[in-house]
Amino acid sequence: MVAHLIDLAPSTELIAADSTVRTVPPVSQVLLNIIPRNPFAALAEGNVLQIIVFAVLVGLALNQLGEQVAPLKRGFEAAREVMFQLTRWVLELTPIGVFGLMAWVVGSFGLDMLLPLGKFIVAIYIACLLHMALTYGGLMHFFGGMKVSRFFKAVFPTQLIAFSTSSSYGTLPSTLKTTTEGLKVSPRYAIFVLPLGATINMDGCGGIYPAIASVFIAQLYGIPLGMEQYLLIMFTATLASLGTAGIPGSAVIMLTVTLSVVGLPLEGIAFIAAIDRIIDMIRTTTNITGDMVVARVVAYQEGLLEEEQGLPSTCEIDKTWAQN
Ligand code: ASP
Repeated sequence: MVAHLIDLAPSTELIAADSTVRTVPPVSQVLLNIIPRNPFAALAEGNVLQIIVFAVLVGLALNQLGEQVAPLKRGFEAAREVMFQLTRWVLELTPIGVFGLMAWVVGSFGLDMLLPLGKFIVAIYIACLLHMALTYGGLMHFFGGMKVSRFFKAVFPTQLIAFSTSSSYGTLPSTLKTTTEGLKVSPRYAIFVLPLGATINMDGCGGIYPAIASVFIAQLYGIPLGMEQYLLIMFTATLASLGTAGIPGSAVIMLTVTLSVVGLPLEGIAFIAAIDRIIDMIRTTTNITGDMVVARVVAYQEGLLEEEQGLPSTCEIDKTWAQN
């Protein structure tokens, strides 16, 4: 346990609380370590990357086996609901925890700590907005067959819902409606790709957020990062995003995976958890915009637009949605 002297800004000098700084493992070792030798040991030790890889393999096997493993699939679905409920309970207590953390941060380090946090928020907002404008705008322009301005106009109401709810799952009905009605994607395809996207396609919390948060925490504790660590952050964050649920605050939980793989102190989360909701709003907006972009681009490229297929009207989707 060591105390670290941190230079956050020219005028700010803070002594961080005791923290454990781990040694940074080489990339090759991290890659070898994600292959589960004993999935039960991985579960017991909380080795999240191995658990994700194992879960993906089990999912692939379940899909290939089809009907004969249907009861097991239903069992997993029920277990998922139980986990969601547990997570909801934890999240309900979050405001109390956040209050405590914020009081600790300001009490220990004074109001000076708020400036770096402000910069952290601004950095993430700029990164997300650039990503939406350049990457998504570019994809739409070159591969989506739709004017970029028309796309953003169509998705804006859904973006507002995502921004205010901070939940990709909660926004799903609106994402579905906009994708089918505004972006003219066939309902049959949209109903498959959007729930999948809300679960695994998370650019906001699978790429941008863990990367900036890791760099922020490394700077906070004065830990230098090299190219190898940046590559590790990219790889781990992308993999960890597969396990991030589309509910408020889940990216913070998954940030622990990236931090521990790269060897950064988990205690750093205490500094950013308090302001997470503000960041979650733009993360979720980025996530669901990415889902709609992918749906439109693939539908355009594969001839799955509604007009091209002559499919029934989008009220079909309302019915299917209502049944679920
Ligand atoms: N709230 C995000 C979502 O629902 C996940 C996260 O970034 O925590 O997509």
